[in-house]
Amino acid sequence: MAALRITNTHIHTFTAAHVPRYYPHPALYVFKRVPGLVRGLAWLLRVAGHPAAETLERLLQFQKEAYRGGQAEIFASVRRQYPPDTRFVVLPMDMAPIGHGPVEADIEAQHDELSRLARSDAFRGSVIPFASIHPDRPGAAAEVRRVVERLHFRGLKLYPRLGFPPDHPVLMNEIYPFLVEHDLPVMSHCSRGGVRGRDVSVHAADRFTEPAAFIPVMRKFPDLRICLAHLGGVEDWRRYAEDGIDPDDPAARAANWQVAIRDMITSGDWPNLWTDISYTLFRFEENIAFLRLFLSGGARAEALSRRVLFGSDFYMTRQEALSERAVCFRLRNALGEETFRRIAETNPEIWLGERGGDA
Ligand SMILES: [Zn+2]
Repeated sequence: MAALRITNTHIHTFTAAHVPRYYPHPALYVFKRVPGLVRGLAWLLRVAGHPAAETLERLLQFQKEAYRGGQAEIFASVRRQYPPDTRFVVLPMDMAPIGHGPVEADIEAQHDELSRLARSDAFRGSVIPFASIHPDRPGAAAEVRRVVERLHFRGLKLYPRLGFPPDHPVLMNEIYPFLVEHDLPVMSHCSRGGVRGRDVSVHAADRFTEPAAFIPVMRKFPDLRICLAHLGGVEDWRRYAEDGIDPDDPAARAANWQVAIRDMITSGDWPNLWTDISYTLFRFEENIAFLRLFLSGGARAEALSRRVLFGSDFYMTRQEALSERAVCFRLRNALGEETFRRIAETNPEIWLGERGGDA
């Protein structure tokens, strides 16, 4: 069997310099400035036998990652978890315009640093850089054009929970047409968890983020390849497993984002709709049995498995107990070589526009 080259379609390398000063709460500024405080608190809780100690330890791991220095240091720490020829789609984050205070390095600087990383001797060929932009920012479309045309970025990351709908006029009128013209894909955060703009309610954030929010986009741009990340997210997987889906409620399937995404993909109505399993499958024990069934046996599973991408969501996953390497091996083992190759090698190549059609 031919060697397999993994493409991880979802990782992050942004650093503390790209996170607003007062995010997530002004009171945490002091903890962020002095990481030793979290460690001290974790130690106290451990001594007291408090169950929150483990959570804090993981938070500390996560914080360590974000404060590791530059994007290159963060990237080096994920790369060692994978075979040497693995490629990684790196997704920036544009958090300056969301009302949580200033960032040290703005999105242009974040893009430029990522571009240097992608072109560096050490990592050339391993980094596939994506742009990310808040469409309310002045010059949003020009920045996307700049990094695609001059720096050869390969797609766009969206994060609607920050406070914008996916059919925002700047996206619809300027950015999506440009992406279609250049045959580049979109990755959009699609789970109930994650960062929110300061003045965005949970309800509003969910309306911006939910799978149906992309229907107007897919109607207008049927050729645009869109990936809704996290296959609905851990919260909707938990509800699916614990509460089930009420068969008498006609709205129940659409209300669970995991079911909604599977229904939309397998309906055949949205041939360029994709999803990735990042973060969600790092709750490995809870979720792997479901994923395995969703991807094996029957026409529906076949249709879905042609549209699922392997991604991890490093370094968000540092909050979970299993390492990238551990999950990657378990996944390959549980799904089998053929399915794993499809989601980790073939599908990412199609989604990125490197090979045509439905292999
Ligand atoms: Zn992510």
